[in-house]
Amino acid sequence: MKYLGITLERPKIGVFDFTGCEGCQLQIANKEETLTDLFGLVEVVNFREISSERRNDYEVAFVEGSITTDNEVARLKKIRIQAKILVAMGACACLGGVNNLRSRFPLPDVVKEVYGGHPVDTGPVRKVTEVVPVDIELPGCPISKPEFEWVVRHLVLGIEPQFPKYPVCVECKQRLNSCVLDMGMMCLGPITRAGCNAVCPRNRFGCWGCRGPSDEANFKSLMEILGERGFSEEHISERINFFNAFSGLSQ
Ligand code: SF4
Ligand code: SF4
Repeated sequence: MKYLGITLERPKIGVFDFTGCEGCQLQIANKEETLTDLFGLVEVVNFREISSERRNDYEVAFVEGSITTDNEVARLKKIRIQAKILVAMGACACLGGVNNLRSRFPLPDVVKEVYGGHPVDTGPVRKVTEVVPVDIELPGCPISKPEFEWVVRHLVLGIEPQFPKYPVCVECKQRLNSCVLDMGMMCLGPITRAGCNAVCPRNRFGCWGCRGPSDEANFKSLMEILGERGFSEEHISERINFFNAFSGLSQ
């Protein structure tokens, strides 16, 4: 493509799914109004959810889902060898995500509860960085369409995307929201990375932390605030562990 008279390369991209609900891929596939623009910017050579093309000459790999089997480890390592840039996409890939909830229980019990006597190949939940190096982490559950497009534009132009370091509370105040903590709701906005435009508090839901921790998140202070407001330890623990976003902070 040409931009300001300069010919730009169309990077070849692949989108790959591991253990997850495929909701992040759907966010891309559902972009009808801008899908043609996206395909003008990049060449999609491998994306099972939308295309029968299965080429392995991709330069950028978008990886969705957490890693739970030996087969997935081997497949991810192959993708890493091929891709010049690997983007972990969504809370499952970046944090372990909702899948990690099962780590609270012995794995055989979880398998028996879900699959009965049917044998399944599964193991511990790992985020992508626990298996291979990651160049960019695109957060969210699911990812936001505008943020995905923003990352793609940066990749095409060869610029490293810089995600907000500050917490959701900043965007919440920028949108002139009333604080849901003051309405008696639990909210992890004070310790969660912004970039979602505070979509949950905007709609009168407390934040669940799907984008992971903000820089210098003051976990201890938030715990004190939630305790002062009468939230039980069980309620707090359920919220902070939901996406496995704060495991490094909460110990
Ligand atoms: S509603 Fe949540 S994100 Fe918004 S200001 Fe209050 S604590 Fe922060
Ligand atoms: S407000 Fe919190 S839970 Fe909601 S999208 Fe943003 S980071 Fe995720």
